[in-house]
Amino acid sequence: SITAATSPFRNYLNDLYEKYRSLNDGVVADYIPELALAKPEWFGICVVTADGQVFEVGNCDQLFTIQSISKAFVFGLALEDYGREYVNSKVNVEPTGEAFNAIVLDETTNRPYNPMVNAGAIATADLIKGSSGTERLKRVLEMFKRYTGREHDINVPVFLSEKATGHRNRAIAYLMLNFGMVSEKIDETLDLYFQQCSILVNARDLAMLSATLANGGVNPVTQERAIDEHYVQDVISVMLTCGMYDASGEWCYRVGMPAKSGVGGGITAVVPGKLGIGTFSPPLDPKGNSVRGIRVCEDLAQDFGLHLFNVA
Ligand code: GLU
Repeated sequence: SITAATSPFRNYLNDLYEKYRSLNDGVVADYIPELALAKPEWFGICVVTADGQVFEVGNCDQLFTIQSISKAFVFGLALEDYGREYVNSKVNVEPTGEAFNAIVLDETTNRPYNPMVNAGAIATADLIKGSSGTERLKRVLEMFKRYTGREHDINVPVFLSEKATGHRNRAIAYLMLNFGMVSEKIDETLDLYFQQCSILVNARDLAMLSATLANGGVNPVTQERAIDEHYVQDVISVMLTCGMYDASGEWCYRVGMPAKSGVGGGITAVVPGKLGIGTFSPPLDPKGNSVRGIRVCEDLAQDFGLHLFNVA
């Protein structure tokens, strides 16, 4: 619309895009060949306000796999399926200094540390209800549709590659099976986990995901409820403490927004009550977070006082 095209915020976003498009640090993930196909110059920024205004610049239609960003939202679905107490008996909510794919469980309870590390995400996926693998995937895809307002598919070659090379995730899953932390249907759950990581999204979808959380669980454009309002705070708390891999503490300090990143190059960031940010740029820093995405969120936090604890 004309208003959006001429708004000062749109100009600000265009400037932000120009400021960081030539930043060429970081490396595109290449642990499977499909991810290495991503172009380092792809760059999109989208902001969706809690009252449904959409601002975007750059490659906001380019699809990529959601990867670890899925973990936060599947955690929300598990909470809806089983409630807080039971979910917490299977997965803790404690940040870990270990890598996201660490093969480590809590020593006294055998629980994975949190739903954002692979162990915790697999234990969480195990809780997703449904009579078959197909139905469980369908429920996950329908959940994402409620958040984004759009149908989602999985990238089948990425799924098959993740599955073919996912020995470490299988090892983690079977360790948890040994401790009785996951069910006997763990092979079906591993497929579901690899599939949820392979869901195709764009930067606009990522902004819709976080804008929906920012708006108390209701998509601000479609007005559809995506998640029970009681669980929104659960999801965004874990995003704040654990969402940015081993850089979660620094991210909280510098940016101060609950967020989740993925190796596909996406970041979704929530400013509760106000807006959601989605960024897409495949080159990652050594911790696995999108280099341009971090800078964009830092600037937005600083320039608009969006840090959660900003009282200035
Ligand atoms: N599919 C990836 C894995 O399980 C997730 C990578 C990520 O985004 O952190 O290793």
